[in-house]
Amino acid sequence: MKRIGVLTSGGDAPGMNAAIRAVVRKALYEDMEVYGVNYGFAGLVAGDIRKLTRRDVGDMIQRGGTFLYSARYPQFATEEGQLKGIEQLKRFGIEGLVVIGGDGSYRGAYALTKHGFPCVGVPGTIDNDIAGTDYTIGFDTTINTVLEALDRIRDTATSHIRTFVIEVMGRDAGDIALWAGVASGAEQIIIPEKDFDITEVAENIRRGREKGKKHSIIVLAEGVMDGQEFAEKLDSIDNFHVRVTVLGHVQRGGSPTARDRVLASQFGAKAVEVLKDGRGGVCIGLDNEKFVEREIIDTLDNLEHKPNLDLYKLNEEISN
Ligand code: ATP
Repeated sequence: MKRIGVLTSGGDAPGMNAAIRAVVRKALYEDMEVYGVNYGFAGLVAGDIRKLTRRDVGDMIQRGGTFLYSARYPQFATEEGQLKGIEQLKRFGIEGLVVIGGDGSYRGAYALTKHGFPCVGVPGTIDNDIAGTDYTIGFDTTINTVLEALDRIRDTATSHIRTFVIEVMGRDAGDIALWAGVASGAEQIIIPEKDFDITEVAENIRRGREKGKKHSIIVLAEGVMDGQEFAEKLDSIDNFHVRVTVLGHVQRGGSPTARDRVLASQFGAKAVEVLKDGRGGVCIGLDNEKFVEREIIDTLDNLEHKPNLDLYKLNEEISN
């Protein structure tokens, strides 16, 4: 393959720029050309495509978001949209495509591959909720951003002897809550993968206070319920005067951590190697610190993402 494309799709994640940079630089190193597609699959269908040079990705590795922009474009689930996308790629002489995004984006990449156009998936989402890889690009930066907020809230919680519920992102997966919770020493972590009993949560807070604990921090994944609702349930059991902080979109942006930049660089370069071999329909992942290639369809339909629940147990053992 001599000419490839790259796009970012779904929610943006810190490190996407580092991944695009790696795709461009590695491809140039391999004497291939790279075209950038703006606005994900929406831009692909519209033909919003341009050649990327080495300089276009200069001064990019440290920037959050994605300079190729991203979009949600449900129409890409139709065959009509997919064939139009391939037509646009061919118009530019592009022979393979790197798709950086979450599992929705992987569906798009798989659809193109099924129509005979080779695509490689690179996991980029802050939620870490893609099956077949231990980590996704953006997750490390996000948990560090959440951690910084949790540390600040802890100062206030301690000064006023308060209970705080901090709602973090994670609609389907509790990874952000789990990692940031353990890293911050949160008293309790509430995630979609683990049932909880609100009366036990209340009992833990009471026991903590009896032991002389100055604060109680509960990290709640948004997929379980909203923070305000959770706080009201707690306050209805006992008058804890629970305070709620919803971190929202501050969790998404920011300069990527070293780990995300390195991971993104490695993933991006691996994706180019796959296309250089003329292969497609695979996605890159990390399995126990080793890079792996998996069939995209296997990742989507047969594998399941599971957070590291050892961390949940560990937190119960050491944070109360
Ligand atoms: P995040 O995890 O950050 O939400 P994502 O990649 O899962 O990222 P989605 O919005 O689900 O985000 O998907 C991104 C885009 O991928 C969609 O807007 C659409 O263009 C394309 N896409 C999603 N599902 C399909 C599908 N079944 N077939 C083809 N394309 C799809």
